[in-house]
Amino acid sequence: MMKFLKKEHLTRFFDAASAKMTVYVPVDSGKTTDYKAYKPGITVSRKLKTTRSAKDFFFPQTESLVEFKVNGKNIEIIDPRKEREDFAVFGVRACDVRSFAILDKVYLTDPVDTYYKSRRDHGLIISMACTRPAETCFCNAFGIDAAAPEGDVVFTETENGYAVEAKTEKGEAFLDSIADVFENAEDNIADESRTKIREIMAKLLLGNLDKTTFGGGKTEELFSRPEWASLSEACLACGTCTFVCPTCQCYDIKDYDTGHGVKRFRCWDSCMYSDFTKMAHGNPRLTQKERFRQRFMHKLVYFPENNDGEFGCVGCGRCLVSCPSSMNIVKVMKKLTEGENK
Ligand code: SF4
Ligand code: SF4
Repeated sequence: MMKFLKKEHLTRFFDAASAKMTVYVPVDSGKTTDYKAYKPGITVSRKLKTTRSAKDFFFPQTESLVEFKVNGKNIEIIDPRKEREDFAVFGVRACDVRSFAILDKVYLTDPVDTYYKSRRDHGLIISMACTRPAETCFCNAFGIDAAAPEGDVVFTETENGYAVEAKTEKGEAFLDSIADVFENAEDNIADESRTKIREIMAKLLLGNLDKTTFGGGKTEELFSRPEWASLSEACLACGTCTFVCPTCQCYDIKDYDTGHGVKRFRCWDSCMYSDFTKMAHGNPRLTQKERFRQRFMHKLVYFPENNDGEFGCVGCGRCLVSCPSSMNIVKVMKKLTEGENK
């Protein structure tokens, strides 16, 4: 059922929600916008997107997996995980919500990644429709509707407040638990806002990005294209694009010798790095061209090939604003579609 939250009652909503569980909200700090735990007095950002995506909540940058304590001939194995509590992430945009479906395909498919699953089970996604999409947005190229995000609870800004709707049982239970802050509303209360958002999205230049060159079954056609050489020349191998990307999911596992045992942890890795997937015999991708190609072939060919046509990009545009060399997935797609001489 649709509910309505008056603009002036937004703080009441956060106070009520954060009394139930930790609620993370986007907050501006200097040049970046990051999620922080809500507390009274905090100013929630009005910017379109956080600098890093909400994937950090489910797949953090570093994470302890297991500890081994050595005592003489005995080895004690310790699971460092603590009892997890419910939490909510507020203001997740449609592109980032879709990224969870992509991460789920990787981490919730057998063998299930129990570290990720536990966070997904305890996390509540409160999404927000994009009333002010940016020129760098192209979620619509991947079939995502910025006006009607997925999520457990969806907020849509209207003229004087927010239309609020639960999309899952978890979301329904959450809204019921803080029912006092809302008013009941007609089901069509968000329609006008949605229409405006879709009109803006339809005018964005990147929304028409041509995907026909890509998809499952295109490996042979694309792997040896000469354009990879010129495209990859700009790449500094800094890995920024992978770290801001909501769908990049690669990690490395390392052991840290504590002197009386070992702590095993995982941390994000990047296929743009020269030591990525390095094995005893060396690295299978010897040049930056090969590493660069891997990142885009994975998102545009290998992932859809293995996942019913779903691309490994959600068009969030973060790589368009973050790359120090102004290289990004849009340039790659356009170049490979138009050919070397364009
Ligand atoms: S952000 Fe740009 S320069 Fe850095 S690894 Fe990605 S494509 Fe290369
Ligand atoms: S490749 Fe770029 S636009 Fe696509 S999801 Fe990743 S950061 Fe966003």
